[in-house]
Amino acid sequence: LSNEFSLAALSDKLEQSGREMPVAGPMVPGLGVERKRMPVRNPADLQEIVGYCAFAVERDVRHAAREAAKGEAKWAEVPVEERAACLERAADMMEADMERLMGLTMREAGKSAANAIAEVREAVDFLRYYAVQAREMLAEAEPLGPIVCISPWNFPLAIFVGQAVAALVAGNSVLAKPAEETPLIAAEAVRLLHRAGIPESALLFLPGAGDVGAALVAAPEIEGVMFTGSTEVAKLIEKELATRLSRHGAPIPLIAETGGQNAMIVDSSALAEQVVSDVIGSAFDSAGQRCSALRVLCLQEEIADRQLAMLRGALNELCIGNTEMLHTDVGPVITQEAREMIEGHVARMEEAGCKVERVALPPETERGTFVAPTIIEIASIDWLGREVFGPVLHVVRYKRRDLMKLIDAINDTGYGLTFGLHTRLDETIRQVTDRIEVGNVYVNRNTIGAIVGVQPFGGCGLSGTGPKAGGPLYLGRLVRTGAKVALPDAPV
Ligand code: NAD
Repeated sequence: LSNEFSLAALSDKLEQSGREMPVAGPMVPGLGVERKRMPVRNPADLQEIVGYCAFAVERDVRHAAREAAKGEAKWAEVPVEERAACLERAADMMEADMERLMGLTMREAGKSAANAIAEVREAVDFLRYYAVQAREMLAEAEPLGPIVCISPWNFPLAIFVGQAVAALVAGNSVLAKPAEETPLIAAEAVRLLHRAGIPESALLFLPGAGDVGAALVAAPEIEGVMFTGSTEVAKLIEKELATRLSRHGAPIPLIAETGGQNAMIVDSSALAEQVVSDVIGSAFDSAGQRCSALRVLCLQEEIADRQLAMLRGALNELCIGNTEMLHTDVGPVITQEAREMIEGHVARMEEAGCKVERVALPPETERGTFVAPTIIEIASIDWLGREVFGPVLHVVRYKRRDLMKLIDAINDTGYGLTFGLHTRLDETIRQVTDRIEVGNVYVNRNTIGAIVGVQPFGGCGLSGTGPKAGGPLYLGRLVRTGAKVALPDAPV
């Protein structure tokens, strides 16, 4: 895309590409039953039907789990070189189909054009990275068996593909369940992976809601679960798996990547303009619907008023609305239900006496599920409670002498995903980064950023089990313990 990139050409291609009606349904060998298809709507304009999807039912899951066990026996015999070649072919095909995939991601998940480009790019990066890693690490490794992959709607292509192909290239079969909100782009990815050479018996697709996910996790044939989504659901899965053993008598592994209460600390030595740009990007990009998004900004009291005034100015400059316009900064949140949950939180904080500032939404947003970017001043980190997955930034003020107490309060939330620090004092960088307990730390930049192979991503505590996705340790967890894996000397 980068070679040919031109805005006019891109708009033309988007216009032509996405207008046929995509459909999705279970893709499982031997499953012939037609199920009722439900419309999938564009969150930016609820009147627009993007495509239709038929969800799997429990009977399909039982059949699929048996098929995946058969499929795994064959797929595991395919040499790792050939499995890796399938991923590379899929990466080429995805790049060639970039505009169509991007258009569908925009309409189904309400992503802006810039976010949709990054999404397809990340999926391609996962394909190429895991292909290289598999050749280097897994020549003699033995797969686990059928793996269930459950993914969220906020990276409906990148996370869906990243999970599935990591498990597949390690020789496992995959039962993939996308989020109920975004089955269409996931179905496109599955069809593409099949065309790239991954057998239909090795990659099975079961769209559906939480009941389908729960049935998959409960299936006796499965030997591992990869889950990205909320901490609450990860806990349910953990509980279910704790009662069972794999066919080799070992615990069934769970790789979970979950939510966060991500903080950023800004001290009085920070560069105020840089802070504004990084905070706006971290908190409001993707309408705050990234697990890495900034949720609470901690401002040293001496600079708090000035920094907040600058942030307010930038907030009012954000372009909110039509996701098909390339200059749009903030799109919709995923569903009406998500909007109501976020609005409920803002109302409760306002009732509790917090100062709340919001930008006005333009009239065009009435057709979709938009939430006005919001800043809420809170008295302390304890006010945060549960993760609010939307364009809402909390702000607390702190005294310099309480810096270490502040870090402890952030650690005490129990989450440990991303953390940002803006300071020009080397000693503060050392002290803070030594004490904070999170997966990814960002110093003097925005807190958004998983870069496959460069900046692996994952949290600790309530935010995930590790290993980090897009990092060198990931594939090692998808083969049998004790299997021969060539791990790198210096883990990232
Ligand atoms: P969610 O937990 O509601 O759903 C995630 C997936 O789990 C969906 O496919 C859903 O259908 C399925 N599911 C729901 N109930 C289930 C059950 N009982 N058993 C099995 N599966 C079930 O999360 P969401 O709303 O789709 O996504 C947003 C969440 O994901 C946020 O908390 C966000 O922080 C997190 N997230 C984390 C990362 C990360 O890398 N750490 C990345 C993206 C999103």
